[in-house]
Amino acid sequence: MSDQKPVVIWSREAAMAEGDCACASADPSRPVLRRLDLADAGEQDCACPDSGVTTGLPLSPPALLWRRAPELYRAPLPGQHEVAFAPSPTAAITLLNGAAGRILDQFAVPRSIDQVAGELPGAAAADARQAALQLAQLGLLCPAEAVETPCAPAPHTLTAWLHVTNQCNLRCAYCYVRHSDEAMSTVTGRTAVEALIRSAVRHGFRAVKLKYAGGEPTLNFALVQLLHRHALALTGQHGLELQGVLLSNGVNLSPATCDTLREMGIRLAISLDGVGAVHDAQRGAGTFERVARSVERAIAVGLRPHLSITVTAQNVEGLPDVVAYALERDLLFNLNFYRPPNGTGGASHLQAENDRLIAGGHAALALIELRMPAHSVVGGLLDRAHLGYPHSYPCGAGRNYVVVDHQGAVSACQMDMARPLGTIWAGDPLEIIRSARGRLQNTPVDDRGECASCVWRYWCAGGCPLLRQRLTGRNDTRSPYCAVYRALLPEMLRLEGIRLLTTRATA
Ligand code: SF4
Ligand code: SF4
Repeated sequence: MSDQKPVVIWSREAAMAEGDCACASADPSRPVLRRLDLADAGEQDCACPDSGVTTGLPLSPPALLWRRAPELYRAPLPGQHEVAFAPSPTAAITLLNGAAGRILDQFAVPRSIDQVAGELPGAAAADARQAALQLAQLGLLCPAEAVETPCAPAPHTLTAWLHVTNQCNLRCAYCYVRHSDEAMSTVTGRTAVEALIRSAVRHGFRAVKLKYAGGEPTLNFALVQLLHRHALALTGQHGLELQGVLLSNGVNLSPATCDTLREMGIRLAISLDGVGAVHDAQRGAGTFERVARSVERAIAVGLRPHLSITVTAQNVEGLPDVVAYALERDLLFNLNFYRPPNGTGGASHLQAENDRLIAGGHAALALIELRMPAHSVVGGLLDRAHLGYPHSYPCGAGRNYVVVDHQGAVSACQMDMARPLGTIWAGDPLEIIRSARGRLQNTPVDDRGECASCVWRYWCAGGCPLLRQRLTGRNDTRSPYCAVYRALLPEMLRLEGIRLLTTRATA
C-alpha cells in the first residue's frame, strides 16, 4: 500500500458459523462511508453475546469538533501500518497506513474534519477528509463534546438451548451433564417451542435461534426434526426469523443425518478437543477417528461444521494441531475455556493454569499467522472474548437466553440446569429468567468493579458470569481467566491487522 494516500480498512468481523467476513471499502482511494454491518457471533456451546447489532454511526457534519477517542488502542504493524480500535458502538478492528495514522494524530486536540483537510492541498485534502470521516465512523474519533456512552445494544435474537435428550454416547471427563436414559418427549418439546416463540413475540425479538443439544442430540434426532418444523411454522406465522443449530459430539453423525441437516437448513457444531490421542484423552478412546469421519461426511454433503474446542490443562499443548486441522478444512472454530463444576477448586486453581493456557494460545495464534486464512478467525476465538463487535455482556444469560431441559424445566444457563427457575408450562420462559436475575448475575461490564476500567472490557465483557460467581462468590471481580484474555487479546488484534494487511496486499 502506498503510504502517501490515507488508507483505512476495517474488519467486518466473522459470523463464526457462516464464516462471513470481509474487508470493507473495496477501493481505498474512494472510501465509502457506510454503516458497519455487524454480524452474528455464530455457534458456540454457550449462550452467545447478542447478535445482529444495528448501531450505525450517525454521520455527523465534518464541521463538528472531533478528537481521538479517549481509550484508543493502537499497535504498530510492519511497514508503518498500525492496527487500532476504540470502545464504541461502531468499533471494528481497523488497519491504518502511515498517512491515515498521521491524520488520526491531528485530532490529539479537538479539531474539525474540515480544518484538518483544509491544511492539505487539492486531492490530498479530499483524501484526508474522507479518511477522517471513516475514522469517525469507526469510533476512532469522537465528537469533542461527546459523553462516553457504554455500548449495550438491545438484543434482537432470542436464543434457546433445547436439551432434547439427557442420554449421551460418550462420558467426557469434564462434562457437566448428569446423564440418564431420559429424553425430551414430543409434548414437552412442542410446548417448549411454543412457549419460546410466545416469549419472542411478547418481548419484541425479531429472530429465534434454537440450539438442539443434550446429551447427544442425534440420539433423539427425530424430535429435532419435528421441533424444527414446528418452529418454522410458528415463526413464519409471527414473521420471525428462525435459526437452528445442532450441537453434537460428532461420533454418531450418519450420512442421512448430515443430509437432513443440510436440507432443513440446520447448522452443525461439532465438539473437537484435539487431534488423535489429545481428543481421545478428553472424550474417550477411538472417538477422534469417528469425529473426523463425521467432519468429512458433513463437508461432503455441503455442510460447514463449526468446531467447538474445549480447552483444558490436558489438551492445551495440542491446540496448534487442532487449529491446523480446522484451517486445512476452512472450518470455523472457537476455543471454549473449561468451566469446572461446583466444588472442584477455587479461582486460584484455574489461575495456576493460566500460564499454560497463554502458552497454548500463543502457539495457536502463531500457527494461524503461518497459515493466514482469508477470513477472520478472531471473532469468537477466545472463549467469551469476542472481537467481532463491542459488547457489554459476555453472553445472553439472564437477558435473551433460555435453557429448557428434557423435562421442560427452565434455567438461565445450560451449566446451571441443576437449579431450574420454572417450567415451560408457565407460559413465558424468558420472563421467568429475567425476573430471577439475582440467581445468575450477568451485569454489564461497566458495572463490574474490576473490569469497568479495563481497555478490553467491550471485547472481553468480563468473561463467563457463572464461572466467576461459582469460583469467587462475587459478581464484581475479573474473570479467573483474565490474565489469559489480557495476554492474548493484543496478539489477536495484531493477527487480524496482519490479515487485513496481507489480504489487502494480495487483493
Ligand atoms: S476479565 Fe480482565 S481482561 Fe476481561 S474485562 Fe475484566 S479486567 Fe479486562
Ligand atoms: S453464564 Fe457462562 S456458561 Fe452460561 S451461557 Fe453465559 S458464558 Fe456460557
